Amino acid sequence: MIVLFLFVTGLVFGSFLSALTWRMMHDVSIAKGRSFCDSCKKPISWYDNIPLFSYLLLQGKCRHCHKKISARYPLIEFTTALTFVSVYLLYSMFFEIFPWLPSLGIAGIVLFCFVGFISIGIFVTDMEEMIIPDSFVFLLFLISFLFVLFSSDTNMWQRLLVAFVSSMFFLILNLATRGRGMGLGDVKLALPLGFLLGFPVSIVWIFVSFIIGSIVGVALLVSGRATKKTRVPFGPFMIVSFWVCALFGASLIQYLTPYF
Ligand SMILES: [Zn+2]
Repeated sequence: MIVLFLFVTGLVFGSFLSALTWRMMHDVSIAKGRSFCDSCKKPISWYDNIPLFSYLLLQGKCRHCHKKISARYPLIEFTTALTFVSVYLLYSMFFEIFPWLPSLGIAGIVLFCFVGFISIGIFVTDMEEMIIPDSFVFLLFLISFLFVLFSSDTNMWQRLLVAFVSSMFFLILNLATRGRGMGLGDVKLALPLGFLLGFPVSIVWIFVSFIIGSIVGVALLVSGRATKKTRVPFGPFMIVSFWVCALFGASLIQYLTPYF
């Protein structure tokens, strides 16, 4: 029952997120009424706007103009739903890296669903438009700060220092590469992610981001999908690495410590 509830809630939040990210990238106000079709601009009726199911029912086409609706909508909806369910099912796996999490009880699940929600939002906007919205980063930091503050955590100052140092690390890279390697969005994103992970797993997190980035970069070059001049957004690597560390950080530290 809980799994079904979280899946449906995830679909609804995912639907909101797919519209929100689209509007953020195209400068359309969020308050501006209902969703509309990208090609014919006709509003989408409520019965055609039920996440995932309408898309499958209409076979990915607009009811009015029959143009294909971008697969990003059902993809974002499904990924969000899957994230909410996974957070619940894998919840105890987070405890090793976030020992303060059990003290929050059910609120901890809410926090990680929220972190997942923002993660997907940043992943999407950075992939599609190379933008990491400040509002996403700010909300993520604010909410994480409040949850950690009211948890059993006793390392607040250390946590804030880790956030600052991680961010400075990316800022130095940004300045050294004159913005070609890291964007300022990555510099800001390091604040909430470094804050949540804390010491020492933040080091592994940055390390793994670069490993994933290099693997993807080489794969893109070899497959001819990118040249050396192509700009690849770094935010998605930071996000994926964050979740890898959140789930497997403890074992990663064990494997990596002998090499440091
Ligand atoms: Zn249409």
